[in-house]
Amino acid sequence: MSASSEAGFATRQLHAPRPRGEVRSRTTPIYLSAGFPFDDFDQAAEHFADGGGYSYTRVANPTTAAAEELIASLEGGAEALLVGSGQAAIAVTLLGLVDAGGHVVAGASLYEGTRGLLTDNLARLGVSTDFVDDANDADAWERLIRPETRALFVESIPNPRNDLVDLDLIADVAHAHGIPLVVDNTLATPYLLRPLEHGADIVVHSTSKFLAGHGSVLGGAIVDNGRFDALRSGALFPHLTAPNRLGGPGYADRFGGRARIAYLRENVAVRFGPTLSPLNAFLLAQGVETLSLRVERQSANALGVASWLSERPEVASVDYSGLPGSPSHELARRYLPDGQGSVFSFTLDGGADAARRFVDALTLFTPMTHLGDVRSLILHPGTTSHSLRSAEELERAGILPGTLRVSIGIEHLPDLLHDLERGLAAIRGTAAA
Ligand SMILES: *Cc1c(COP(=O)(O)O)cnc(C)c1O
Repeated sequence: MSASSEAGFATRQLHAPRPRGEVRSRTTPIYLSAGFPFDDFDQAAEHFADGGGYSYTRVANPTTAAAEELIASLEGGAEALLVGSGQAAIAVTLLGLVDAGGHVVAGASLYEGTRGLLTDNLARLGVSTDFVDDANDADAWERLIRPETRALFVESIPNPRNDLVDLDLIADVAHAHGIPLVVDNTLATPYLLRPLEHGADIVVHSTSKFLAGHGSVLGGAIVDNGRFDALRSGALFPHLTAPNRLGGPGYADRFGGRARIAYLRENVAVRFGPTLSPLNAFLLAQGVETLSLRVERQSANALGVASWLSERPEVASVDYSGLPGSPSHELARRYLPDGQGSVFSFTLDGGADAARRFVDALTLFTPMTHLGDVRSLILHPGTTSHSLRSAEELERAGILPGTLRVSIGIEHLPDLLHDLERGLAAIRGTAAA
């Protein structure tokens, strides 16, 4: 694989010798490489037989693998798979669980992208979804489960309403039917809540948010508990238990409890192809190293902002589970004792006009659809993320014309309150303080 100095120009520009020696690096290097050469003929065949080593970055990459191990460890899972975005993580997970004619039951309080994936894209592939309005009513889940149901899906801290779900209760319902519970843990992060400890089977993340934290790169993670039970659930998931096409061992035989995540990695993610760039995996791992510090500060700031807002006459309501008056406060004490996260909504008296004046008067809060950034962000869901919903649907989801969603950053709290005071002054039509 290297050319002598007599080789032609076109050959040398590809094959001139370059040092490849081992260098001890503090971080896992960025293996920004489409693929990895085989040692020889036999090792190529070995790789295809047992999957060991690296061949092509869509299949596996060492930089990405290092970030996968980090995230699996923090969630307490058996194995993680990284893909190009949070949407890709949710899509890959569901495509690995449901077939045409299959069915999903999901909590009604969901990220809009997930709702669209279920009600539009997966519906077109013949997969239907029912939504549970009160996700803490076990009977409501029971009533919607059918013989074709292949997944229950909830968010641990639903966006934007903070109506927390009792994960232990929903996991019990799922397991009584041999169905996996999938939890989107994006807003809680594994620092505040580890759904696998409460019976979830698969955790998904938009790593674009808190896990990366810097707001620079998109990414998605899938973490599996490694407890797929072929005896109990095999009949629901024949693609995991059937022999391979040459009659050799299938996923459950090869990977045991890890059959689900192995199938997602080797079959679904590889074929649909939403591969994370190794550069983005590196930047994600850099972000994760400060996760606890950021989330601790963000949660403390969010509690400060929510308490302050809840005492202001211009504010009709604040949906933050950390506030004693929140309907989710009891669940927050059980599930989020170390902090209640930093994404929540509040509703201004005075409707959309008040919301517009408020947002346009702010100087520190950035108007953005992103969240989980180290900087504080603000959004008016009714005219942006949720603009395809009817007025009636919005009201049912608790999104009113005066509702704003914030994602609180790590700034100095008094500066954030001062900025919010500017917004309230703009509503009153008085000069900014
Ligand atoms: C942002 C987000 C997603 C989608 O993630 P992307 O990385 O933007 O594709 C899914 N779920 C939740 C809760 C999110 O906040």
